[in-house]
Amino acid sequence: MDLQPTIETSRFGEYLARVGNALDARVSDSTPDALTMHHAWADLENSELPEVGVGADRVVEQLVEQLIPNGARMTDPEFWMFITAGPSTVPVIAATAALVAGTQRQTIHAFHALEEVSLRWLAQLVGLTEAMRGVYSSGGSTANLIALGAARQYAFESRGIDPAEQGFNGTTSVVYASTEAHHTIQRSMAVLGMGRQNVRLVAVDDRQHMVPEALAEAMDADLDAGLIPVAVVANAGTTNTGAIDPLRRLGEIAHARNTWFHVDGAYGLPGILDERVAQRFDGLELADSAIVDPHKWLNAPVGVAATFVRDRSILQRAFAQGAADYLEGSFTTREQDVLVSVDSLGIPYADFGVELSATSRGVQVWALIREQGKEGIAERMCRDNDFARYVADRARADERLESLTDPELSIACIRYVGQGRLNDLDEVNERIYRRLLHETPYLPSTTVVNGSLAIRPCFINPRTTWPMVEGFVDALLRIGEQEESSVAPN
Ligand SMILES: *Cc1c(COP(=O)(O)O)cnc(C)c1O
Repeated sequence: MDLQPTIETSRFGEYLARVGNALDARVSDSTPDALTMHHAWADLENSELPEVGVGADRVVEQLVEQLIPNGARMTDPEFWMFITAGPSTVPVIAATAALVAGTQRQTIHAFHALEEVSLRWLAQLVGLTEAMRGVYSSGGSTANLIALGAARQYAFESRGIDPAEQGFNGTTSVVYASTEAHHTIQRSMAVLGMGRQNVRLVAVDDRQHMVPEALAEAMDADLDAGLIPVAVVANAGTTNTGAIDPLRRLGEIAHARNTWFHVDGAYGLPGILDERVAQRFDGLELADSAIVDPHKWLNAPVGVAATFVRDRSILQRAFAQGAADYLEGSFTTREQDVLVSVDSLGIPYADFGVELSATSRGVQVWALIREQGKEGIAERMCRDNDFARYVADRARADERLESLTDPELSIACIRYVGQGRLNDLDEVNERIYRRLLHETPYLPSTTVVNGSLAIRPCFINPRTTWPMVEGFVDALLRIGEQEESSVAPN
């Protein structure tokens, strides 16, 4: 039998150049939607296990010709639906470099060093106090889980129990979050054994901010009932509307009851770089933990979030897997014997969270901050906040539109109200929304604000331009008018 080489282990340059050119075409041309091009990739769905490999060239060719042109819409500059960035170039290149040369964040090497440097930079960038130390994980979901694991550790340790080591029985532990909080809080509670139903949903005011008095009342009632308050979770930029909770008051209420204060800034924390809104983050220094997702507003590729705490030893107590021969066995415990990179694990990031193997993700964050600097990033945050304000202002200035929020960050929530001929505005806006997706390049989402359906663009895409934002409002008006004129006059 003619033995073909079945595995390619180099030629990265040649292949990356081909893939890179295809990616450039994808982000610069307006490629058709993948589902409308289903015929071009439908054969992938039923393809069978290859008995014989086709070799690297053929696989790369398929990536370039069939996969990349039929990929996700998140790279589109008009994609404003999820808080998912079309990634910018430099963090993608850095991530690719790390996949090979920074294979794992463990052992002592240049990429390992950048884990710590970039965590420090990131903390400084988003206004966290000097003392905060971090760990990367795959996204906000895991980052919240890690933070709440620390909170659980703190709450039980102060009652003489090590929950990670011993487990805990029969004690109801409660986490307080607003009705606008991200549902990864519920999932974290489930995974940590504290139960989804023990997320106490605290009311928000009509601007989607948690009501401090309602929090204090709920905590006091639970304390009286003998329950264990584990954490107060504040939003620094809600997913729905970008609302920033009153951090100082919430932190004070938590601390007065000896309770961990967690700030979920997965999306919004970089917004602090916009001087016009920085004051809204007042009280951030009270956070016992905070998270931020570089893969959201900072435009890193999906797969990187950071959890910050004051002292990582609490993470280690909550998450260490316990010594294992296959791991620690290879490393020396004597500092003077650390002479080559593989003599030591380095900083034990794997013990600060739930992932053992993980690529060096810090280099992405290091690279994007190096590239743009704090000023460059601040400019981006301001521009995106301006987009949201512009949309809200247009809606306020035009009687056919309504702005359902006063944007705090880069999310706007507006709807078409027309000129008095429309009855069910939710239903009309649902129709307008579908038409936007089908007939225009604009891809916002919908949400519900104070009971009303809103059309919600979230501006974090680095490729978005002013004409696109203006075009979106124009398109919404045009479609809204068509819908309204199709309704019989009163
Ligand atoms: C997006 C988001 C999360 C979850 O982050 P993932 O990276 O999607 O897992 C958590 N909290 C908030 C406020 C978010 O916006």
